[in-house]
Amino acid sequence: MAAKILVVEDEADLGEMLRYNLEAEGHLVTVAVSGDEADAAVREATPDLILLDWMLPGLSGIELCRRWRARTETSRTPIIMLTARGEEEERVRGLSTGADDYVVKPFSMPELVARVRALLRRANPELVANHLKAGDIELDRLSHRVSRAGRDLHLGPTEYRLLEYLMRHPGRVYSREQLLDGVWGQDVYVDERTVDVHVGRLRKALNRGKEPDPIRTVRGAGYSFDERFAAAH
Ligand code: CA
Repeated sequence: MAAKILVVEDEADLGEMLRYNLEAEGHLVTVAVSGDEADAAVREATPDLILLDWMLPGLSGIELCRRWRARTETSRTPIIMLTARGEEEERVRGLSTGADDYVVKPFSMPELVARVRALLRRANPELVANHLKAGDIELDRLSHRVSRAGRDLHLGPTEYRLLEYLMRHPGRVYSREQLLDGVWGQDVYVDERTVDVHVGRLRKALNRGKEPDPIRTVRGAGYSFDERFAAAH
């Protein structure tokens, strides 16, 4: 089941990046670029979670948070505040206004996605898939255990995150840059060839003997989890 997430962010690039990464996680995302637009969106359909930027044109994040908390429909909706560095006071006010969590910009995308997942899980476990299965590969997000055809696989932390990222959308092709953003985080400086190294390690851990390789290399584009593999078995 997909979660409906409202992203309230007036910086267009950041809003789109959040949309991209949350959609990749399987959620339905709406982006509002002003306080008024956000309030209208919430009235139209109550989201399952709200990412709320603090400094907005029109209604401020604090004002929105206060309003939503006062309304029955949104009194318990998980809200994560996005604050800029140096807005310490705002942050304290935000939490006292009823936000559940906050992240300071610039933030790491994998960390934000993990926090969204944690909050959704707490609010409504049905919205988060804890178990991913594709072909004969199974991945458990709570225990971080991965198995293939019933045998436990031992993956390093990066290979685990990489597999989890690719398994969420079999058939979708990710460029090395997208994988760096989604798996490593934007702030980390890593060469794109690092992706190839970790894909190599992942394959080695996944494939035994003549087993088919679930990771597809798409020339000139990147990598994807093979959808035919995912649909088999
Ligand atoms: Ca802003």
